[in-house]
Amino acid sequence: MAVMYLGRIVETGPVEQLLTAPQHPYTRALLSVLPEAEGEPVVLAGEPPDPSKVPSGCRFHVRCQVLASGEAERAGVAEACRTVDLPVLNGGGGAQVACHWAAACAGESGGGSADVPTA
Ligand code: SF4
Repeated sequence: MAVMYLGRIVETGPVEQLLTAPQHPYTRALLSVLPEAEGEPVVLAGEPPDPSKVPSGCRFHVRCQVLASGEAERAGVAEACRTVDLPVLNGGGGAQVACHWAAACAGESGGGSADVPTA
């Protein structure tokens, strides 16, 4: 399964893993509005950007709830979120996520792409 935002895959992995342990903030936001989701739904700020004017850095950063909440700042990746583009995931292979914060949480440095650990 692959989750896309603004023309790019942002997270891949087996369906069960993505549904139960999503890593990318956009995947988390999507799943938060399902009827069976626990907790409050994530309401994204603003509207999807114009595809002809893709934001710098992470293309989700203008709407990202992790960046807006200060979590990305606390993880030391807020500047990268706004300025450093992420690797293009090809949708093949195992679980991957294109997110500076997820990579930082996974203990990886640089690049912003993390292989998502499987259970
Ligand atoms: S890279 Fe930063 S802005 Fe983009 S989804 Fe991850 S936390 Fe949000």
